[in-house]
Amino acid sequence: MRISIIGGGPAGLYFAILAKKNFPNWIIEVAERNGPNDTFGWGVVFSDRTLQYLEEYDKISHDEIVRQFETWENVDVVHCDERVTIGGNKFSGISRLVMLNILQARCEELGVSIQYHKEITDLNAVKTSDLIIVADGVNSIIRRSYPSYFEPELSSRSNKYIWFGTHKLFHALTLTFRENEAGVFASHSYKFNKTTSTFVVECDPETWEKAGFASMTEDETRAYLEKVFEKDLSGNPLLSNRSMWINFLLVKNRHWVHDNIVIMGDAAHTAHFSIGSGTKLALEDAIALFKELKTEPEVKLALVNYESNRKPKVEEYQQFAYDSLVLFENLPRYMDLTPLEMAYKMMTRSKKLTHEKLRQRDPEFVANYEKVVLASK
Ligand SMILES: Cc1cc2nc3c(=O)[nH]c(=O)nc-3n(C[C@H](O)[C@H](O)[C@H](O)COP(=O)(O)OP(=O)(O)OC[C@H]3O[C@@H](n4cnc5c(N)ncnc54)[C@H](O)[C@@H]3O)c2cc1C
Repeated sequence: MRISIIGGGPAGLYFAILAKKNFPNWIIEVAERNGPNDTFGWGVVFSDRTLQYLEEYDKISHDEIVRQFETWENVDVVHCDERVTIGGNKFSGISRLVMLNILQARCEELGVSIQYHKEITDLNAVKTSDLIIVADGVNSIIRRSYPSYFEPELSSRSNKYIWFGTHKLFHALTLTFRENEAGVFASHSYKFNKTTSTFVVECDPETWEKAGFASMTEDETRAYLEKVFEKDLSGNPLLSNRSMWINFLLVKNRHWVHDNIVIMGDAAHTAHFSIGSGTKLALEDAIALFKELKTEPEVKLALVNYESNRKPKVEEYQQFAYDSLVLFENLPRYMDLTPLEMAYKMMTRSKKLTHEKLRQRDPEFVANYEKVVLASK
């Protein structure tokens, strides 16, 4: 069996690892348009559940990832200069580049061929393969070039966001809300190694316009946001790595499979970064596809099974993420909430976490909310 994978991100590389490890005779080629160290972005987030899967499916890369990541137990919500801490939320962060380097090394150890600086824009380049995996990320060229195969539904959302790093260590997943003369800003921050945190800033289009970001340089943007989050950064600068404002692209595809071609990871679906799940979904796609190919040797049938089993799960997750996205898009209307109310709103924003489930995670927080907020209504 010859498999061509377009895109050496977490989805493509992790599938390659699982497939080659279990089927050493398969020829697996990954085409990656960048070099092995070219990626940008800061830390990515995993839930405990995802880590369990990684341990189950490839302990070697799991152990290496665990050696390099940072974990936290809490979500902190900072609003009106007050911090509310909610326990029982275990997550881990790792540098995107470190994680990719681990997956790349594991691929090479197993005999997967990764061809760097090779861009594939035409499926004819891989047409002799038995299975073609399209894992070329959120702006997938293949998805765009073959719309009739996948029937993409794309929606560019209204809020603007920008990824930064900082040496200020956020020991919890910290959601911070700040207001100035231009409007409301939210930051999502978490540590991902011993010295660095991811710091994503998000704001609505009106705030963005009023602040004048359209005519600011990268340095001016950083300086402006360092001022907005002055109290939170404790004097640490924001670190830019080709950081630029973007609009979140919500990606769905009506079909994930066409003949012997399957689309996965961000190319197939995105979920708002506020629930920290892009990498998680990409890795879990890879596991799900591998499982189908393991039980069904006929490629086309395995792909049909993959689509019918995996797609509903991802769509359910996308719905949770959508609820979260909408809340952040409407943030100005929640700025009058007290810090405790805001914390509760944030925790229950995706409807996945009900009041009772939240109580299981942090009984003290829920008891306090019931006493202070619910009892006064
Ligand atoms: C630059 C960047 C920075 C990010 N930073 C963060 C972060 O800090 N925190 C976080 O939680 N999430 C971050 N994310 C989101 C998260 O990493 C993604 O949700 C996750 O990586 C999705 O995995 P994937 O394998 O589907 O796609 P990607 O990780 O996007 O990988 C796709 C790969 O395909 C390659 N490629 C694209 N087109 C072609 C082509 N035509 N031919 C060959 N190769 C191609 C790309 O170079 C890329 O390596 C970031 C994503 C990106 C793209």
